[in-house]
Amino acid sequence: MPTLLVKNAQVLVTMDNHRHEIENGGIFIKDGFIKAVGKSDQLPSKADQILDLKGHIVLPGLVNTHHHFYQTLTRVVPDAQDANLFNWLKTLYPIWARMRPEDIRVSTQTALAELALSGCTTASDHLYLFPNGSKLDDEIEAALEIGVRLHASRGSMSLGESKGGLPPDSVVEDEDQILKDSLRLIEAYHDSQPGSMTQIVLAPCSPFSVTGDLMRESAALARQYGVQLHTHLAETEDEVDFTIQKFGKRPVAYMEEVDWIGPDVWFAHSVYLDEGEIGVYAEHGCGVAHCPNSNMRLASGAAPILDMLAAGVNVGIGVDGSASNDGSHLLEETRQAMLLARLRAGIQGASRSGKSDQKIMTARGALELATIGGAAVLGRSDIGSLEPGKAADFTAINLNRIDYAGALHDPVAAVAFCAPVKVDYTVVGGKFVVKDGQLTSLDLPVQIEKHNQAAARLLNN
Ligand SMILES: [Zn+2]
Repeated sequence: MPTLLVKNAQVLVTMDNHRHEIENGGIFIKDGFIKAVGKSDQLPSKADQILDLKGHIVLPGLVNTHHHFYQTLTRVVPDAQDANLFNWLKTLYPIWARMRPEDIRVSTQTALAELALSGCTTASDHLYLFPNGSKLDDEIEAALEIGVRLHASRGSMSLGESKGGLPPDSVVEDEDQILKDSLRLIEAYHDSQPGSMTQIVLAPCSPFSVTGDLMRESAALARQYGVQLHTHLAETEDEVDFTIQKFGKRPVAYMEEVDWIGPDVWFAHSVYLDEGEIGVYAEHGCGVAHCPNSNMRLASGAAPILDMLAAGVNVGIGVDGSASNDGSHLLEETRQAMLLARLRAGIQGASRSGKSDQKIMTARGALELATIGGAAVLGRSDIGSLEPGKAADFTAINLNRIDYAGALHDPVAAVAFCAPVKVDYTVVGGKFVVKDGQLTSLDLPVQIEKHNQAAARLLNN
């Protein structure tokens, strides 16, 4: 029965219902779950292991709600640097089609290493092409070695160019095979218990790369097994035009038609939602993975996040794939979520003094999206906050650093306002994934070398 006592944190952010922030805070952990949270002098004084976090801020582990780990192999590809979404995809599909199982493994570990070093303890990933014998199993096995919780989305593409879709026929799969593999993965890996390390998600890629039949059948299969559904939706105006032309309706109405509206569904992006569509999400409990860097990088637009939150939509943060970010830094993404919401408010007139009462995204609001918000989007009540009974997932940052110099009157806000930093500790289920600023499970220089070799092979092929 291993116990871990975390004590003396300068401030501990709980994200509980009252949003308590505890000075000189600590956590008592047993068997991977939190037994007590409070002032350090009110916690048990003995444990198998003690971590003194004097001078640190402690936050709940951050939750990443959208990624494509494999894209860490194709950052800043010259021909895709300045393209919009559809042209970016068409440039990259043939490069991705060269991936092998070992590329899935190395990119998974690189992405999770980056995420963990930015405070992430749970990550969702969306893998939607399986070239040259690659499987989702390659990603799941590689993730278990790192120790970050994984929601592995069995993505898919079935609507090739010859059938009016965007991807080339060479990267799409047969729909019966997709559904068969989805079922196999659920039965092999899906764990819905509290503290689960691996969950399976069914995730046809987007309205422009799969058929309505595959959407419907994936939804039925997911609901039979109680797994979540995920896809990209309303990312760009091109996509809205596509669904209107091909299906005669806007993206959210199309999702209603294919039975993809419910509390078990979360959508990446949702930049182009109108008020009625936000209302549909709110009424039915659909979640949103907000990916501000990607939306700016691809010139997609600024999602109406404050309107979604005001309507009661669950919103989390996602770094999105590393070919459109081009990083996996969740604290940076949190900062960008705050700044992009302010930019959108400014464009809408928030800078006029008559409108100064307009709501604005706060630092604490952005941190909520990155923690408890993301947990809700992934359908998890066992993570996202530091409270008794929850999984022992947290991250800690030493406040004595140049990045925060002059900001220590409000360390919590500093985490979102100041330049993003690498964290000092990331702990998942009571186990150290990052300790003293170093990954515990990877030799990083070796990993970087392997990753660069794989990327060079894909690009120079
Ligand atoms: Zn994406």
